[in-house]
Order: sequence, then C-alpha cells, then structure tokens
Amino acid sequence: MDFHERTAAYIESLDTGNTAFLDELEKYSLETFVPIIKKPVQNFLKLIISIKKPKRILEVGTAVGFSSILMAEYSDDDCHITTIEKYEKRFPIAEENFLKSGYKDKITFIKGDATEVLEELVKKGEIFDFIFMDAAKGQYINFFPNVMKLLAKDGVLISDNALQDNELIQSKYAVTRRNRTIHKRMREYLFNLTHNEELVTSIIPIGDGITISSKK
Ligand code: SAH
Ligand code: MG
Repeated sequence: MDFHERTAAYIESLDTGNTAFLDELEKYSLETFVPIIKKPVQNFLKLIISIKKPKRILEVGTAVGFSSILMAEYSDDDCHITTIEKYEKRFPIAEENFLKSGYKDKITFIKGDATEVLEELVKKGEIFDFIFMDAAKGQYINFFPNVMKLLAKDGVLISDNALQDNELIQSKYAVTRRNRTIHKRMREYLFNLTHNEELVTSIIPIGDGITISSKK
C-alpha cells in the first residue's frame, strides 16, 4: 500500500456506517457490482448536505438508489430529490428500494437518458440547489451546459469518479481507444469546471476523485 492507500484505509477504519437499510443496500450493491459511491464520498455528501441544507437535489445516475436514499436519509424533511437513470434493468430494483426505504415520496425517479431529461428539466424551468453528477464519466462534459442552467445561484455541484483509477493523470497500462476518449473528455470537463467564471471549484482526491463547485 502506498501513502494514499494507507491514508484511505485509516480514514475508512473510522467510518461509522449508515442506517441498517443503507448498509444492507451497500453490501448488495458491492456484491452485484453496482458502482455505488465509496465511503469517503458518502461521508462527504452527508457533510455538504448538513452544511448546505439543500431543498431541491438533482442526481444524474440512480443505479439501484443507494446514493438517492442516502441523501434522502440525511437531508431535511422538506428536501426533495429528483434522480435520473437510463438502464432499464435497474428501474425495478431502484423502485423497490425507494419503497422499502420509506423515501418513495421524497424521491422522484425519472427513467430516461439524462441527455434528454436534463433538456426537459431546463424547458420546464426547474432549478436545483444541489446537483450530484454520477453517471457515465464521458458524458459529464455534454451534460455540463444544461447542468449550469439547472443550478441555482449559490448552488452546489458535486461530480463523482472525476479521477477514476488515476488513469487520467498517468496511464500505467495500455489504454483502449474508448478509455482514452473518456479520459480526454473528463480532462475537458475538469478544465471547464476549474476555469468557468461562474464557478468556484475544488477537486478532491477521495474515493475515485470528486469535484465540488459552488455557483456564484
Ligand atoms: N449514484 C449511484 C451510482 C450510479 S452508477 C450510487 O452511488 O448509488 C452510474 C449510473 O448512471 C448507472 O446505473 C448508469 O446506468 C447510469 N447512467 C449512465 N449514463 C446515463 C445517462 N446518460 N442517463 C441516465 N443514466 C445514466
Ligand atoms: Mg460514482
């Protein structure tokens, strides 16, 4: 283990977990290879929600509902979460989890490709004070213009998997053409976030790397 891994393992040893329902769903997700947010990212989301107290959260990438339910659990009662997923096989699993968790009414589940759904949300004039981006990494850059339109003033944008496997920085192994394209797009996204005059952005190397931005 290098320094970064030892540090991450030590921090994880201090983790106190979540509710029994979430801990169970986390276990199921890991066993079935659903790429849910890692523990330090879970804690970070809980922290930001506790500071920011958002009322309208948008998530891109529901999977089986783990992070939506985590945000529902740790936000105020009058907060509402809208989450988007395009992978049909995950629809019934996410729906069942929303029901079982008791947060069905706090979460609006939109089934569809975020490319179109974000466009529709913009047309409807929807605004969110917290947006969590956790879908296909290569698409963040495409979602970005609409995400900026949907983000309120003083709103917070967090993106997951921004530095996945460090491959972005240094390609240790032969990288496939597809991955090279994804890395290029992610670098472009990170450049946009850090150089956009409307945003204040920090890139944080926890989990697979996250970004946090605040809109001026
Ligand atoms: N946020 C979840 C994990 C999401 S995994 C959690 O931490 O619990 C990423 C998900 O994004 C996958 O289920 C994938 O199907 C979905 N996804 C990828 N591209 C998408 C798109 N264009 N529109 C909607 N969902 C997308
Ligand atoms: Mg992720």
